[in-house]
This record gives sequence, C-alpha cells and structure tokens, in this order.
Amino acid sequence: MRPIPLTELWLAPEATVEGLQRLLHRPAPPHALLIVGVEGVGKRTLARSLAAAWMCPNHTSAGHCNACAVCLLWSDEGQHPDLRTLQPDPDQIKIDAVRETRSWLGFAPTVAPCRFVILEEAHKLNPAAANALLKTLEEPPPYASFLLTAPATDWLLPTIRSRCRIVRLATLPVDGLASRLQARFGLEPEQAHRLAELAEGAPGHALRWAQGMATNVGREVNGELQALEALLALFAQLGHAPLEDALRLAEQFRELCKRLEASAPDRSARGALAMGLDYLLRWYRDSLAVELKGDSLRFQAYREPLLQLARRFPPAKRLQDLSQLIEARRAILRNANLQLITETLFIQLLSEP
Ligand SMILES: [Zn+2]
Repeated sequence: MRPIPLTELWLAPEATVEGLQRLLHRPAPPHALLIVGVEGVGKRTLARSLAAAWMCPNHTSAGHCNACAVCLLWSDEGQHPDLRTLQPDPDQIKIDAVRETRSWLGFAPTVAPCRFVILEEAHKLNPAAANALLKTLEEPPPYASFLLTAPATDWLLPTIRSRCRIVRLATLPVDGLASRLQARFGLEPEQAHRLAELAEGAPGHALRWAQGMATNVGREVNGELQALEALLALFAQLGHAPLEDALRLAEQFRELCKRLEASAPDRSARGALAMGLDYLLRWYRDSLAVELKGDSLRFQAYREPLLQLARRFPPAKRLQDLSQLIEARRAILRNANLQLITETLFIQLLSEP
C-alpha cells in the first residue's frame, strides 16, 4: 500500500500525533525510532507514513506532499528506491537480511535526502541479526534512519531499545473508532460499533473487516470476524457451563484459534492462541468492571453474560483466574503443550473456588 499522509492516519492518543508532528519539524529524522503497540494498532502504516514524510523535501507537519519527484516514486505496494523493509522470514529476521541491508545503506540515497530501513516485528531479530543491527545503530551513515516496530519495548534487547526514540501507539476509544468507520464505509451505527468493539479499538483490524464487508471479496477477512464472534459466544458460556464442559470448551477454543490462524497469513498457531487468550483476558477484566459504577466495558454488547459470570464467581476467584490466564498466555508463547495448557485453564475457570 502507498503511504498515507500522517494527518490522515487513525492514531491515538492525540499527544502522540502532536509529538510526531513536532518531530517532523526537525531538519532530520532521528537515527532510530521504535514504534510499539498491539497488533492492528497501525505501527506498520505509521512507519511508512513517517518514512514518506521525511523523504519528501516538501513535507509539512501534516506529512508528505504526495506530488514531488520523491513521493511519486512510491509504488502501489509501498516500495521506494530509498527504502528497505525487513520482515520475519518466516518467523525470524536473519543476519543475512541485516548484512545485505547494511551494504545497501553504504550507498548514498538515490533521490530522497535520507534512506530508511523499516524493521517490522523487530523483536523477531535472531541474536546474530540483532548484533549485526546494533553495530549499524552505533555508527549509522549520516543519511540513514531506522524505523522499528514491536508489540512492546521490553521485547527488544536493552542495547537496541536504548538507541531508539520510542513512539507508543494506543488503541482508539471504541466509540471514536465506530463513528469513523460509519463515516468512511456508510455502516449502520450498530454494525460499526460491533466492528470497533471486536477490533478492541485497533483501527487496522476494523478497517480490514469493514473493507472486506464493503467489497464482499474478503472471505478470509470475514472468517476472522466470525471466529472472533464465536469466541465471544464461547466465553459467554463461562457464566453457566458446568465443570464437565471444560474439556469441550477448551477444544472449541483451540478450534476457533485455528480459524484465527488461518485468517492471517503471518499468524502462527501459538500467536493465534495468544490472541484468543488476549480476548479472554479482556473478558475477565470486563467481568470485574461490569459491577462497578460508570464502568467502561470492552464488550458492551455482552453485558448480560458478563454479569452472569460476575454473579457466578466472586471477584477474588476471577482475579485468580486472570493471573492464571496471564500465565497460560506466557506458557503458550514459550512452547508449552497447547492442549494441556488450554484444558488446565478451562478446568480452572469453571471450578468453584
Ligand atoms: Zn513529496
């Protein structure tokens, strides 16, 4: 995709946007910038927009001009002669890719005033590649800049992190995202709200689903949406299902996570299960929030089943479940046995305190 001017991105919070605009006023970009935030929040899109802005000699705080000789060289796929993008292949960024990029950086820019390297999912640099990158970050050519993306700062080596200026992206408030979706795609208010809620305020997911619905070609996109809706319907059973159902629910949970895996090409089996558990974590947080006055629920449409869960188990037990969930998520990302972890988890969730 071609880069989008900075002011047209759906970013939060407002302070981040203002900070980025101030950054664009500087004569040169920082040598390394790390963009962190959850999946779908817009890290990759922002990296491209920032690269385009700094490469454009006419840029303003609103972003690149989209009309000059440098801007016109962007391809529809988002390539540019003064940009390199490194991605995990398939689940690691390897040293060869970093070495090749280093020699590419040895040449001065072709048309832009600077050369950019975007490192997507920089936490997937393997140790050798991370060391090679570090050498370049220590002494970069004057015209070179790096844009790294990662879910959180502590997923990167401290030596790399400490050389980066950090930009944190937050999800949008669900209502705000819903009204933007409504305005752009002409969705019904309820439908827009539902997408925003399921996307948990991450514009990347919501935009993909809304586009899929609008063009009617996004079959796998809608598969993802359906899998998420089915997941929430499964969580809704936790307020009344008997303990004997634990293994069946665990199996259904794994099945639905498989569908999540199949719906995104760069999502691994473990990544999909971690994603499913993230939704379950939010469900439990909501079950704690639902009894408070002036609560702000992630899943507004599920107030009833959330209340049911809250009535079934006391808060202390649900807090314990939450820590169990966090532990299960960690274990899944650490190569533990998926079936065992999910079965133990669902038994715990349905057990009386
Ligand atoms: Zn331009």
